[in-house]
Amino acid sequence: MRRSAPPSLLIPYVAVICVVGLAFLVFVVLRAEWSALTATATLPIAFLAVAAVVGEARPLPISRGEVTVETISTSAPFILALLAVGGVGVAAVVQAAASIADDVLNRRPAHKSAFNTAQYSISVVVGAWVFTTLAGVPFFHPHVVVTMGEVGHLLVAGGAMIVTNRLLVAIVVALAARQRIIAILREDGAFVLATHIVLLCIGGVAAVVSEFGVPLLVLLGPPVVAVYLTAAASVRNAFQATHDSLTSLGNRDRLLSRLGHALDATADDRGTGPGLVLLDLDHFKDINDTLGHPVGDRLLRQVADRLRTALDDDRDASRLGGDEFAVVVDGDLEETLAVAQALLDSLEQPMRIGELELLVRASAGVAVAPAHGTDAETLMKNADIALYHAKLERDRISAFSPEFDVNTVDRLQLLADLRTALDTDQLAVAYQPQVDLTTRRTVGVEALVRWNHPTRGFVPPDDFIPLAENSGLIGELTTYVLDGALSSLAEWRTRGHDVLLAVNLSARHLSDLALPRSVREALARHDVPASALILEVTETGILSDPARVDAVIAALRETGVAIAVDDYGTGHASLNYLKRLEIDELKIDRSFVSDMGNDHHDFVIVRSTIALARDLGLRVVAEGIEDEGTAQTLHGMGCHVGQGYHLGRPTTPEAILERLDAEDTVASVPTARSARD
Ligand code: C2E
Ligand code: MG
Ligand code: MG
Repeated sequence: MRRSAPPSLLIPYVAVICVVGLAFLVFVVLRAEWSALTATATLPIAFLAVAAVVGEARPLPISRGEVTVETISTSAPFILALLAVGGVGVAAVVQAAASIADDVLNRRPAHKSAFNTAQYSISVVVGAWVFTTLAGVPFFHPHVVVTMGEVGHLLVAGGAMIVTNRLLVAIVVALAARQRIIAILREDGAFVLATHIVLLCIGGVAAVVSEFGVPLLVLLGPPVVAVYLTAAASVRNAFQATHDSLTSLGNRDRLLSRLGHALDATADDRGTGPGLVLLDLDHFKDINDTLGHPVGDRLLRQVADRLRTALDDDRDASRLGGDEFAVVVDGDLEETLAVAQALLDSLEQPMRIGELELLVRASAGVAVAPAHGTDAETLMKNADIALYHAKLERDRISAFSPEFDVNTVDRLQLLADLRTALDTDQLAVAYQPQVDLTTRRTVGVEALVRWNHPTRGFVPPDDFIPLAENSGLIGELTTYVLDGALSSLAEWRTRGHDVLLAVNLSARHLSDLALPRSVREALARHDVPASALILEVTETGILSDPARVDAVIAALRETGVAIAVDDYGTGHASLNYLKRLEIDELKIDRSFVSDMGNDHHDFVIVRSTIALARDLGLRVVAEGIEDEGTAQTLHGMGCHVGQGYHLGRPTTPEAILERLDAEDTVASVPTARSARD
């Protein structure tokens, strides 16, 4: 029994066991000498039969290592006693009745019930054969008075019965789970063995004392109950040690143990997995921070429920801590990816927590043995790297790839450096002029963060903003830029320059209900009117969590700041939001503007965007103007404000002040409001 048999053997195996077992049952029932049962044995037999049925329905819970909770039927001792007291016919009939009653109670499907009944019948017949052979009595004996000598034979027979039963069941589990039989039997462990021995001893005693009538048999009740309670307590302890108390999902230990078992089970055949899915909620920290931990906890419980229902019976999710979950999949890459997709799909519908309706999204990283690691630790590490990649690339699901590794380590380093950069003076804010295309005066500036890395030199924002967004650093970064920019603006204003200031917001700020207040406080700190500030948001940000985004944007506008849609035309958004949200400005993305002189499509897109903005009463700013021709064409199309290298590169606050001063010496200052018209 080396390796998993193909699943196609499962059905023939079950069929053979069913036929053989049911044939055994019919045979022993027909051949049993029912009439020879003595009247004195009837009461003990009836008692043992009832005890067997009850025992089958109240199996002992047994924890197998850290992985699964199994059960051991407590009918075994009574069936064993019945073998001696009533003969094989009685034992087989009672065992079959107990098994069927339990299957009906638990609504098990007919084929499972048939298999259970059949394998029990085979086990009872094997036990009976061993006992009658050792005791030297006919196989179909009706009643044996069990003396001290017979107890030994009976215990050996009980052992044979249980071994047969475990073996028949282990084969079916191995075939279904494509695992090795030996791996399944090994999981039984010392506790299971000890429990079987205790139960068999009780069976032996029951067989002896049944000669003295029912009252003595009743005395065996407490030991059985004691075994039951001990087993239940041990399972409870094992459960607590291996499960997360908030969600009742398995914990990290359990996951590692499960992964280890799955790897062992496929140790000889490295083509099929197992796979590991790591799943992490997007922006859970924001929910926790803004709505409080009780809401966060309730949300995690709901997520756990969703994941649980999304998984088949033979798979379970674990919570690794925080908002990270994991599932081991006994399958290949394709199957693992399908499980990851099913888990993410289960979170699609909003979660309801009291009055709140929250949309929770998640990302998943996948690693599969042997390609992505042959031990639990490597698989975990690589699934984590894949998860990280999924978050950075906004892919939702990523399977590990060796290239991620170098790339990811590099980015992790950059992220660590960014933390330091925020605390030291490596970051700065540059300002790019926004120019009135008629008067060519500077009417506003866009604040752009700059990072001068001690060893890498200039790091473009596109390289580190996504890192900051996915690590929670973006809040600090935005505060840094907003504070720096407002302080520059306050300085320019005291020098008499009433320009507008545009600051970029990252997508995730738009679901931060605390944002409007922090913007208000920042404005107050620098004594700058809200009407001088424009917050730039992207279409992706607007689409991320519509219910919250609407509320945040409305609250921001209420403070008096203006909202611009940045990189307009690149976000694949339907234009619906233009109707829904109160937006003040569209910034046509530079990818359309830079080349509009040569590319007719770009030209048409820019022209229609300007017309659309005009009809909707929005201010329009063209980004990426790199030559005079483009500036003039835009002006001709009715675009009033432009931004681009041709009109001014991002520069220091001092250079902006000089520029504003210089412009002032040439003409009088336009007001911010007139610039917006
Ligand atoms: P954005 O908001 O669209 O900013 C305009 C980008 O276009 C800037 O790149 C600017 O330097 C560049 N640019 C301006 N004129 C021209 C031009 O004529 N030709 C070309 N080819 N490019 C031009 P930068 O500074 O590299 O910023 C890139 C993006 O990073 C920004 O795009 C913005 O999305 C993001 N970003 C920059 N600073 C911040 C910040 O403080 N917070 C957030 N959340 N995002 C920021
Ligand atoms: Mg921008
Ligand atoms: Mg832009």
